[in-house]
Amino acid sequence: MSRPCQARLDLDALRHNAALARQLAPAAKQLAVVKADAYGHGAVRVARVLESQADALAVACLEEAVELREAGIQAPILLLEGVFEAVELAAADRLGLWLTVANEEQLAWLEALRPAAPLHCWLKVNTGMNRLGIAATHCQEFQARLRACAGVAGDVVLYTHFASAEDLVNRATARQLEEFDALLPGVPRSAANSAGVLAWPHSHHDWVRPGYMLYGNSPMALPHANASALRPVMTLRSAVISLREVAPGDAVGYGGTWVARRASRIATVAAGYGDGYPRQAANGTPVLVNGQRAALAGRVSMDMITVDVTGLEGVRSGSEVVLWGEGLAVDEVARCAGTTGYELLTRMPPRPPRVVIAPRAA
Ligand SMILES: *Cc1c(COP(=O)(O)O)cnc(C)c1O
Repeated sequence: MSRPCQARLDLDALRHNAALARQLAPAAKQLAVVKADAYGHGAVRVARVLESQADALAVACLEEAVELREAGIQAPILLLEGVFEAVELAAADRLGLWLTVANEEQLAWLEALRPAAPLHCWLKVNTGMNRLGIAATHCQEFQARLRACAGVAGDVVLYTHFASAEDLVNRATARQLEEFDALLPGVPRSAANSAGVLAWPHSHHDWVRPGYMLYGNSPMALPHANASALRPVMTLRSAVISLREVAPGDAVGYGGTWVARRASRIATVAAGYGDGYPRQAANGTPVLVNGQRAALAGRVSMDMITVDVTGLEGVRSGSEVVLWGEGLAVDEVARCAGTTGYELLTRMPPRPPRVVIAPRAA
């Protein structure tokens, strides 16, 4: 038998989640975000599924878009950070990409351009995230200059990004929306990320931009009814490869950070930080063994973890283990490691073989 650690990718779940996003924002077009290798799920395989469901795709940069075009993806693709230098515009034009304009430089490069075909642009405005985007006071001027550009196609979509939409009681989101809604009346617009799609219906506007939720995870700080039907796309799974009994006072793993308080049964699982499981995961982090919740016991190693399975039925060498995914939300594991599911997914290393479950025929 080969090493049992695998990342299963359920593309049927992906399709289901995209349909749920559509159902929650039925009047809006859907820009499916597949940046960072589709949050670690494989940009090409994800884009092939979403291409037929979404109205457009989004990535961070030209290189990510090139990968999709080279794989034959034909859907419109928005570059969320736009281009980083003027020379990239020729490739963006050739590949039919949509551009973000988020600063004066990017606009000036466009003004100097005589592209083969006019480029579609999205104008990004800062409403409080203070990371990217022009000031609200410059919206009118940028829009007018974009309209006057020979190289820019018709309607420019105005968009902004939320800083705290996962938190329903944070007033920043309502403030951002209020400022955004007052800008350039009548222009097509977009504000909603996954949290916006799930929990802020007034943010849906003309385009929604779901990312994280497409992969079956909720960005919300607290459980939310609209997120309960999401299905995780990635399940990181493995198996028990060793079992032992330890006596009270025995320490387990590097540094002996976990010490048995009672006679305990320890299962060793073939998955470690080399497989994307976070080394920072604390003692007690939940792990599913044979579908039952057990607790991480001892430090995460590169290739293995140790789990306290005392009192669990039917655990033996070869028993199935789920590190996250079906039955155990990646965000619950992430919280025990002081991070978020976004990070765990996007930094998945190539080591665990990807086992793809094909989508059922649409
Ligand atoms: C990443 C990103 C999104 C998607 O955010 P999620 O929280 O993953 O849904 C939407 N819009 C912009 C501008 C982004 O950078």
